[in-house]
Amino acid sequence: MLRNSNGSIYFANDNGENSACLRGRKHWEKDIKKWQRLVSFVRNTNKFFHGTDEPSMYHMSYFNPMNLITLRFLTRIFFISNEFWDQIIVPLYSSSFLTIELNAVPAMIVQVIDDLIPLLDKPHMESWTIHSQDVFDKMTDSSKVSRRHHHNNNNNKNNNKKNMTIRNEVWGFKRYNNHKVVEIYRNPITKKYVIMTTNGKVNEEFDTIVFASNSKNAANAVKNQDYMLQKTILNGFRYTSETDRSFEIGYIHSDPSIFPAVHRKDLLKKFANYIEVCKNKGNDDQNNFKYINTFIISSWWPAINNTTNVGSGSTKHLEGNKNNNKNENAITSSSPRLVTYGLSEAESLTKIKNVVGTVENKWNHPHMSFSGLMLSMLMRFIQGKDDIYYCGSYATPANGHDLSLCSGICIAMAMGANYPFPENKDAYNDFLRLRRIMGI
Ligand SMILES: Cc1cc2nc3c(=O)[nH]c(=O)nc-3n(C[C@H](O)[C@H](O)[C@H](O)COP(=O)(O)OP(=O)(O)OC[C@H]3O[C@@H](n4cnc5c(N)ncnc54)[C@H](O)[C@@H]3O)c2cc1C
Repeated sequence: MLRNSNGSIYFANDNGENSACLRGRKHWEKDIKKWQRLVSFVRNTNKFFHGTDEPSMYHMSYFNPMNLITLRFLTRIFFISNEFWDQIIVPLYSSSFLTIELNAVPAMIVQVIDDLIPLLDKPHMESWTIHSQDVFDKMTDSSKVSRRHHHNNNNNKNNNKKNMTIRNEVWGFKRYNNHKVVEIYRNPITKKYVIMTTNGKVNEEFDTIVFASNSKNAANAVKNQDYMLQKTILNGFRYTSETDRSFEIGYIHSDPSIFPAVHRKDLLKKFANYIEVCKNKGNDDQNNFKYINTFIISSWWPAINNTTNVGSGSTKHLEGNKNNNKNENAITSSSPRLVTYGLSEAESLTKIKNVVGTVENKWNHPHMSFSGLMLSMLMRFIQGKDDIYYCGSYATPANGHDLSLCSGICIAMAMGANYPFPENKDAYNDFLRLRRIMGI
């Protein structure tokens, strides 16, 4: 749900059942039509270059001009107003890109975004029903472990060498006392990899390294001078925390009073986000807006009620609340789980009762842009080189749980694991597409 800077409230994604829905709003009618033309233009161009209009995040063509042309540029070609961009498109889609700086976003992505979060229709969401351990179990089922050799990667010296046995326990998480990896290098005698953490040297040595962190960490950890190509590519990625700070800190709370009273019940039950567009105070530029975005996590992720962690960034729980007494501060299993972005610390204290912690999203959301897209394509030239692999969002052509997980599966399979979901044909086809893109 959106609240514009003039106070109008819209249910984007609504079939006209609600009086406040965006559809049919006279003020936006022309822009909505132009936007729909833009989306269908991008769909047709994508279809031409991808050879299909089958919905998938994994279609990619090097020659698609929509990779190069930005969405913002296209809105100008289609005469879409700046007001529509600032008041509808940026707030609505910044929740997915985790930045309000959308000027560099390539136009080709609008097809996927429009499928996931349509401007006028209700979105359809599906979620995993299994646990991440199930994925590891299936990949490492010893009765089926593949002895597949690496294919199609000339960089990898070990293409034919391993008759690899992957044991389930290898995939367990070793956290090394929560100390971060700062460097990897080869032991000149054993030729195996040594890992240095902030706590010093790890006692074990490894045949293969898989970086599943972020590109900055990987670039810093491969210190060897021979790794210039790796470092150049990895250092090229930009993260949203470098473009703007709107989504850097989220305030975790349970205070629904930040929603308009009349829509509070609906928001808590049915909506994923409530976004307020505000004019930036003290700024004369009419187009300079600020966006306060509350993620209503408990409305779409009921399982969150069994945990105290929110988000993929680092989570800090505040020990006491400066505003409120202890009892009100506690989040119970029936409390709404909310995370609000776009506020300064001072604003969070006045606007929200019971802030219980913060979530920090630094270096975990690559900025979607043409250069990011090209760099992820270039990753194929360094994947597996010297037995070092890279997976996670930056190693894929977009950013999301599905792509990041699938990139990890691609790497695991390059190392000999099983494909875990053969029964799901769509997922398998996406896996094949990503494996082709990653060149492993
Ligand atoms: C607030 C938020 C909301 C999101 N919402 C969605 C959504 O609704 N749908 C969707 O598809 N995607 C969403 N995403 C994106 C999704 O979370 C990412 O695409 C995905 O989690 C990226 O996975 P990853 O494995 O690349 O990185 P991460 O999940 O960030 O994992 C990287 C890990 O590396 C660790 N690490 C970093 N440095 C080091 C080091 N030096 N040593 C050791 N470990 C290190 C980190 O602690 C972290 O655990 C969201 C992201 C955020 C931040």
